[in-house]
Amino acid sequence: MARGKRLLSAVPYANTCAGLPLLNAADLEAGLALSADFTGEGWRHELGYSNAPVYTPDAAGAQLWKIGLPYDFIFFEHWQTDVDGHEQALTRARSMLQRFDGFLGGLLSAADLDHTMVIVSSDHGNVEDCSHGKHTVNKVLTLIAGDGRQQAAGAITALTDFVPVILDYLLPKSS
Ligand SMILES: [Zn+2]
Repeated sequence: MARGKRLLSAVPYANTCAGLPLLNAADLEAGLALSADFTGEGWRHELGYSNAPVYTPDAAGAQLWKIGLPYDFIFFEHWQTDVDGHEQALTRARSMLQRFDGFLGGLLSAADLDHTMVIVSSDHGNVEDCSHGKHTVNKVLTLIAGDGRQQAAGAITALTDFVPVILDYLLPKSS
């Protein structure tokens, strides 16, 4: 990034604009960050970070809960299924979705869902149709679990609905 050859993607860019630090390899090795592949295997085996912890998908979900405890809001960006869609890698996509299933199960088991809302969504379709390597305009599945889920579900029909729903949850208006 510092060499200026690559641009930040949307979420790291928003984080940086808000004056917040980006988590890095040291945070990952200390168990304070998770990699986008959930388990850390990519960092350990493909990027050569031999001290990167490796989790089962289920343990990675529980670890995300632990990492998020000091924060009011966390955003976990997962992009591997987008790459799989672009590369029409259906078998790899299936295995990544199974890994995601374990991760989400681990997160929801660990989370205090009486006081936490968990939202899973995407900003576009892609991997659900591996017959071509492009984003789709299909409707995107959104999963909402935990506190406030029914009210939130009724208020979300488009990508632009997430920010007001999240703000309402975090900063309820006094009545
Ligand atoms: Zn894409």
